[in-house]
Amino acid sequence: MLILVVNCGSSSLKYTVFEGERELTSGLIEKIGEKISAFSCKVGSEKKTLPDQPVADHEQAIALMMDQMIKDGIIRQPADIFAVGHRVVHGGPNYTDAALVDEAVRNNAIAKELAPLHYPNYIGIEACVKMMPQTPQVAVFDTAFHQTMPPKAYVYALPYRFYTDYKIRKYGFHGTSHKYVSRRAAELMKKSAKSVNVITLHLGNGSSLAAVQGGRCVDTSMGLTPLAGVVMGSRTGDMDPAIVPFIMELEHLTPAQMDKLMNKESGVLGLSGVSNDLREVIAQAETGNERARLALDVFAYSIQKYIGAYHVVVGGAQALVFTAGIGEKSPYLRELICRGLKGIGVKLDPVKNKKNISREAAIHARGSKIQVWVVPTREEYMIAAESLRVIQAAGIELPLEPEKTGITRKPAAAAKRKK
Ligand code: AMP
Repeated sequence: MLILVVNCGSSSLKYTVFEGERELTSGLIEKIGEKISAFSCKVGSEKKTLPDQPVADHEQAIALMMDQMIKDGIIRQPADIFAVGHRVVHGGPNYTDAALVDEAVRNNAIAKELAPLHYPNYIGIEACVKMMPQTPQVAVFDTAFHQTMPPKAYVYALPYRFYTDYKIRKYGFHGTSHKYVSRRAAELMKKSAKSVNVITLHLGNGSSLAAVQGGRCVDTSMGLTPLAGVVMGSRTGDMDPAIVPFIMELEHLTPAQMDKLMNKESGVLGLSGVSNDLREVIAQAETGNERARLALDVFAYSIQKYIGAYHVVVGGAQALVFTAGIGEKSPYLRELICRGLKGIGVKLDPVKNKKNISREAAIHARGSKIQVWVVPTREEYMIAAESLRVIQAAGIELPLEPEKTGITRKPAAAAKRKK
């Protein structure tokens, strides 16, 4: 039984096919809509770069993905896919959980207005519905896990009508990741999710923290948009909101220009002048670049402050959980962040911290009052699992016998046999 996970970005399409826990294939089509697009994929452990070709839109990208999966022996026809799970960044205020794609999901006007940049998520849904009209499709929203926040955490202190009339409030993002790593960390701690309070740190290109109390999100650092919260690669994170009109007047910027400045030219990149990639900034800081050093300190400090706040919010955290590119792969930044947490009793084990890259591990020292874990996120797998759960709950019958689906179980071997 195959589940396809689709993530349509503004000019890209990412996909993964799962059979149970196993990832059969994954791929990335970039530069959709440009003269020449790039397509790379992985089948089993074999990586391929496919010939460049123009891909006009997401519908064509989905057709291309299907053709490739047929060529690779993953499927014989699109109908072999049992279900499609779509990553949808914004669900708006109405979705507290993943949902079967129906008219309401397809016409989710509030979410489309709130996150116009993520409109392609919905274009991907339309393209898949068109190509596989009989296949159940599920929307898995990045915002859903955060819908358990209480009003005091999600309402902004603007005139109330902005909340009631326009649904302007904190939504939060990376919810699928926060949900997965918080539950997985509880399992690793040999506790039920309901019995632990954790702070999850999704630190990647975009970064956010979540305060998870007894398995439920009670606060998160991103807001109406992913610009809020901690300092990120090229995003400001929180700052005095009066700076926005002030800079716009100073430099005669339009709202779109200001938005670009805060999202693409700020954060660690803007401060250091080096890069939004923390690896390059660390390298520069280590050779004595003062602005690179400052950028890292500002980045870590913004995270430390959220950890302090969320420790209070959850009523005492039992664990910090690091995930995503930085959280999983950078002992340097984990150490820099945890160095500022002595006041709440966090102590890292330097050897465990250094040793554990991209794998599940406890990295706190004996005597640390709060445990510290690395848990690699599995967003795609979570989307597949959530899709299956929603489909089962909707009473859709599962083809439990994989043979019945006519799918080759070992795609790489099958592809070789075909040659
Ligand atoms: P993600 O968005 O989760 O894929 O994370 C990507 C980001 O993780 C990159 O832009 C880098 O800034 C960061 N990153 C990945 N590996 C490392 C590393 N070894 N040290 C520091 N930062 C890293």
